[in-house]
Amino acid sequence: RTTMASIRQGPDDKLHGGLLVEGFDQESCHSRYKSATYRRNPGRQPSKHLISKLRRHEALQRRCGPGTAAYSAALDQLKSGKNAASSDCKYLVSISYRGLGNRILAAASAFLYALLTDRVLLVDPSNDMDALFCEPFPNTTWLHPPGLFPLWSFGLDTPERHGKMRESGALRPEPDAPAFAYVHLDYNQTDYDKLFFCDEDQRLLSGFQWLVMRTDSYIVPGTFLVETFREELARMFPERDAVFHHLGRYLFHPSNHVWGLVTRYHDAYLAGAARRVGIQVRVFPWEPDSPELLDRITRCTQEEGLLPRVVNTEEELPAATTTRRGVKSVAVVITSLKGWYYEQVKGMYWEHAAAGGEMVVVSQPSHEEYQHYGVKSHEYKAWAEIYLLSLTDALVTTGKSTFGYVAQGLAGIRPWVLLSGQANGTAGASSNLPCSRDVSMEPCFHVAPLYDCKRMGDSGKIVPHVRHCEDVPTGLKLV
Ligand code: GDP
Repeated sequence: RTTMASIRQGPDDKLHGGLLVEGFDQESCHSRYKSATYRRNPGRQPSKHLISKLRRHEALQRRCGPGTAAYSAALDQLKSGKNAASSDCKYLVSISYRGLGNRILAAASAFLYALLTDRVLLVDPSNDMDALFCEPFPNTTWLHPPGLFPLWSFGLDTPERHGKMRESGALRPEPDAPAFAYVHLDYNQTDYDKLFFCDEDQRLLSGFQWLVMRTDSYIVPGTFLVETFREELARMFPERDAVFHHLGRYLFHPSNHVWGLVTRYHDAYLAGAARRVGIQVRVFPWEPDSPELLDRITRCTQEEGLLPRVVNTEEELPAATTTRRGVKSVAVVITSLKGWYYEQVKGMYWEHAAAGGEMVVVSQPSHEEYQHYGVKSHEYKAWAEIYLLSLTDALVTTGKSTFGYVAQGLAGIRPWVLLSGQANGTAGASSNLPCSRDVSMEPCFHVAPLYDCKRMGDSGKIVPHVRHCEDVPTGLKLV
């Protein structure tokens, strides 16, 4: 008999505990209602408050989004160059850039900010956002018309930049103010741009009908520092270490093409295994293959009990463990731009027996060698591989990588993070540990503000659940 509890928490809870709604056309997006059947870890339950907030936000997106009279009026206002005196419909345009992991984290951050400020989220359609993801909002679109806000036309010199207007004292959302304010949260932001995470700036920005935000970062931990937002955030996310987990599962459904890549690979290499382990080896094209990194991967997976140790070939395994029947298997999926690490790990489990007689099947979906910009087939593979990592039961990731952050958040698991030789986090090189378990599944906000808004101070000590990251010590993360 099916009980309410099993509907809500079983692995086949296709709506993720109420995060998603029924009613989308299933053919246009197979992954939306099917993904739950591929996840052994059902993940965290969203709060009732988050669910009702999402439903209200969907209604706002429909009422004010592209194609509505309100949207046409807002566009006219934007073209007039003057801010609207008042308006029921306000907009946040999100421009994300860099690799796919960065773009996903930036879009999730923009969405949370839109939820907090009751703004319609519109995302930049360049960067293949439409080809990679299904539409997250029912009966409307989150893509703004192409060319409305050209990606590269925003930067430090943009006159409407929030930090620039703040510095000159011109940040006043009065009728003679510009039609939009531009929020610049790029690596080269100024101290004035960082005031975005302060209450006074939020008050001033709330008067603009249009905001344009350009970032490549997961700015969410910064929004938890803003007093104005704290109560609402606490209600939406009583479990503060699961913010991206919920936002990611709500927003990012692989398009049908990507879903084909995910499911074919999953069924061929992962579905039959008793355990599934993902290893993300983020290397850069110019780096030579590193026996030292390979050693860390091997030690990490074996010392932490994720993969079996290997025994010397000379040692005889007891006959009972070499029979094929009933042998447990572990599937290891390695993602990397290079093929060398996969070749070595696979070779190791071929040339040596695994202790305990477990069968270790190692595979790697692709090795693209270098990062291609604007190439659809490359983006498809990257997204499919992030998603495949998120379907595993245990994850080993590379610190600082947004690619890995997205996988761990969607999976709902705390990864073991490979420590680089130069790592100067709390468990850095001196301890000679190959990896350390992350304190939470949340991504790290790499370019976080360095101070609270009233004085220079440590932004990792303002609220207890926002702390510095181990992999990027100046960054901030939710725990
Ligand atoms: P980050 O640079 O590690 O933070 O991750 P990003 O996803 O933002 O950027 C790296 C980009 O390089 C990815 O989006 C891919 O285009 C490519 N890339 C890096 N590692 C892999 C990998 O393991 N598999 C594939 N297919 N692409 C990768």
